[in-house]
Amino acid sequence: MPTSRTATATSTHPVDILQQVFGYAAFRGQQAAVVEQVVQGGDALVLMPTGGGKSLCYQVPAIARHRAGQGVTLVVSPLIALMHDQVGALAEAGVAAAFLNSTLEGDEARRIERDLLAGRLVLLYAAPERILTPRFLAMLDSLHERGLLSLIAIDEAHCVSQWGHDFREEYLGLSQLHERFPDVPRLALTATADDHTRADIVLRLALEDARLFVASFDRPNIRYQIVEKDNPRAQLLRFLHDEHEDDAGIIYCQSRKKVEETATWLAGEGVSALPYHAGLDADVRRRHQDRFLREDGIVMVATIAFGMGIDKPDVRFVAHLDLPKNIEGYYQETGRAGRDGAPATAWMAYGLADVVNQRRMIDEGEAAEDFKRLQRAKLDALLALAEAHDCRRVRLLAYFGEASKVCGNCDNCLQPPPLWDATDAARKALSCIYRFHQQSGFGFGAGHLIDVLRGKLTDKVTQRGHERLSTFGIGADVTEQAWRSVLRQLVALGHVRSVGEFNTLELSDSARAVLKGEVPVMLRVAAEAPARGRGGKAPRGSAGSSRSAAGKPPPLPLDDAGLLRFAALKAWRGEIAREHKLPPYVVFHDAALAEMAREAPDSLDALAGISGVGAKKLEAYGPEILRVLQG
Ligand code: ADP
Ligand code: ZN
Repeated sequence: MPTSRTATATSTHPVDILQQVFGYAAFRGQQAAVVEQVVQGGDALVLMPTGGGKSLCYQVPAIARHRAGQGVTLVVSPLIALMHDQVGALAEAGVAAAFLNSTLEGDEARRIERDLLAGRLVLLYAAPERILTPRFLAMLDSLHERGLLSLIAIDEAHCVSQWGHDFREEYLGLSQLHERFPDVPRLALTATADDHTRADIVLRLALEDARLFVASFDRPNIRYQIVEKDNPRAQLLRFLHDEHEDDAGIIYCQSRKKVEETATWLAGEGVSALPYHAGLDADVRRRHQDRFLREDGIVMVATIAFGMGIDKPDVRFVAHLDLPKNIEGYYQETGRAGRDGAPATAWMAYGLADVVNQRRMIDEGEAAEDFKRLQRAKLDALLALAEAHDCRRVRLLAYFGEASKVCGNCDNCLQPPPLWDATDAARKALSCIYRFHQQSGFGFGAGHLIDVLRGKLTDKVTQRGHERLSTFGIGADVTEQAWRSVLRQLVALGHVRSVGEFNTLELSDSARAVLKGEVPVMLRVAAEAPARGRGGKAPRGSAGSSRSAAGKPPPLPLDDAGLLRFAALKAWRGEIAREHKLPPYVVFHDAALAEMAREAPDSLDALAGISGVGAKKLEAYGPEILRVLQG
């Protein structure tokens, strides 16, 4: 392989470019087919999950076509904040790339425009609102007239769909590009898979003739875990402590307030946690995002305002402390874990209150009734996933229309949950709700219902005379926690509704069949509760102690000498990253450093064999890396 890496820098063959510029041995999945289509001048619509490798689908053709004298590739990207790192990564690989946006000084922008018009740039990144200005369009005209507008790549193409959750008005204007430059090939890319959004993209971007590439949406390295909420803080701490000590991760919460409280509390427990939500100062947000990208092992506690376009490869976990709105959201958010292909976890804790809250938010929303119906159906699909006893991945993929086999890498596959026949318990709960209404004329909440079922003589019970109900004490044999799980399931399945300010429980029409014993209810045995107040074993020397100096462990097992080399390489990378004002992973991924530490190459040729070491990085850093490795 080293021979092909040192091959001429003028090859237009995609595999040569992949090896020589990016230092990767082979294309993954559909990449080769997409690249082929685009290099030859065809249009393409690419649906690939996050981490699937979309960038190379346009970067390799851009280089091939530029080398063939066809000029620059325009990359439409929605987020100004992230262009800097993307262009930085290309520069590290020796590719002439730039971005034009409002963060540039006038001089710098003019220099880039000159390079652009002279045909020196291989890739130019810009946001749609910039591209659609008369000045920018005039530059594109000039390039186009001279045959130097090679390709238009539209990243995050789902932003053009009003139906999706990331709609951006400016994306609608992009159809102009096609009208203006009908002969320039176009490539639209997105990680949003559903049919509706896909159809919207084709329609709004006039991609009827584009070839469609749909990758598998499976993310085999992500392990899905969904736990029943029972003291969620202790559960979260235990998860962090047992599975992701010192790892970078994202914790999603629904509200800004909860984000702040959770981040403060985690910091107090010794976790390097930072808050992020739209209510924070732009400055604070930028600083926190920067630290998350640039430092090791930062845990970002965030609302869903955080995440789009975050392409940090080594996010090791995504945790949900609140239920997302639907499976699309869940999949997109969890998809931010493990882009580098190394093991990662998607963890969620969910409980009855989540179901109730989400339903209420839909009910009380401003949306039209048919939209609410759709939202309810989507929430139900997510609840079914959360309550599932079988393979989570099979269910997730089935939701996106993909058939698959049981995965062996989700909680249910790894530890099939013990089930119990809860049909009888469900009937008792339903009939007790029925008695409340019959006796008092209105309903009560879950807590009171459970007290009555378990035969507890609380003040409220005696005030209401509920100890005289025929259902009083009929469920004393079932634990409180098991009752919660029964009720959650009944609400999730839609047999029971939770209404009004006090979340009182009411029967829905479908409850009748369960009451009559026509519908069996199988439930997982409620998990054993973690010790209250602390996360199992003492988590990370509490009270704000700093993390161990060694930092995060390497992604490969290394012996002691290897660990020393890994640490030395990381220190060296940190200096380069600071010098170049880039996140460290843009210089080299951890995986590349770990492979160097393990193989300890002693020549440039041997170093070139490490995945991720392309010709430019070999030339720029090779000698220094060899020196660092020699200690
Ligand atoms: P996406 O944009 O689809 O989320 P990226 O383009 O960021 O994904 O790629 C995800 C990660 O996979 C990146 O770190 C990238 O360098 C790596 N990658 C992509 N294609 C390959 C390949 N063919 N060989 C090795 N690594 C790859
Ligand atoms: Zn599974």
